[in-house]
Amino acid sequence: MKFELTTLEHTKNPDIKWALGELEKVKEQAVVAGDEERANNCWRESEALQLTLIYIEAFHKIKRGEYREAWYDLERCEIKCQFVIRNSSEEFCLNKNIFFINHQISNLQSLYPYCVFSSPGMVVGYYSCGICDHKIRPRSRCSHAKGKIYNGKLCVHVAHDIVLKEISIVSKPVQKYSVVHNDETLDFSVLEHLMAVLEEAFEEWDVIRTTRKFPIDMFFRVDLDSDCPCKGGGKFGQCCSKKAEVEIPHLDFVFRRDIPNLPGIKFPY
Ligand SMILES: [Zn+2]
Ligand SMILES: [Zn+2]
Repeated sequence: MKFELTTLEHTKNPDIKWALGELEKVKEQAVVAGDEERANNCWRESEALQLTLIYIEAFHKIKRGEYREAWYDLERCEIKCQFVIRNSSEEFCLNKNIFFINHQISNLQSLYPYCVFSSPGMVVGYYSCGICDHKIRPRSRCSHAKGKIYNGKLCVHVAHDIVLKEISIVSKPVQKYSVVHNDETLDFSVLEHLMAVLEEAFEEWDVIRTTRKFPIDMFFRVDLDSDCPCKGGGKFGQCCSKKAEVEIPHLDFVFRRDIPNLPGIKFPY
């Protein structure tokens, strides 16, 4: 069965829900029949379909300014992409646009102003295998590898006896779900600027990180005690305030089609 799935309108097609249900049924039959390859194929198709839906929805949430909700979707989608890539052929991933989606997720995430996350510090009593329930100890493992699929089921390690110790604030967390910021105080203008140009989730675009120099006079509004516009981490007064020019990070968006009246990003200082 074939249907188009690139726009928000397409995601409302009832055939998609039906197809997901069918894949689940065929998978169960395959498991009963001992046909592992068929079961795994169903898992792959189903995951690819689900992550495409999540990606398209996340894209349009960003377009509507629902940045936080989109952030959680992108995180879910990223995890699904990683497992599909790990358990599928390159050809499958190319056909289903998985590499494209995976790349655009990290592009979009990189344009978010979030940089501080909270991470729950926890102690896990023990893990068990999600496939065979084997209790995992250093010298006692089962034959299942975490992140691989068996009979259409993803092998995860299930944590037991979890004790939450503390909430630590880190800048590179294992999971990106817990964002500490209050979105009201953050600047989403880069995403806003990008979304003013993009209409659909599968348009090709990329971002190139460069720097640009501006004469020092243009920074007269910047307080000497505030962070230096060069983003080097120091205070303006101790960093670039005495230079003739300040070099600041700059993003160049690359689009695959001609954009009439491309809005210019305003000088931020
Ligand atoms: Zn196992
Ligand atoms: Zn500086």
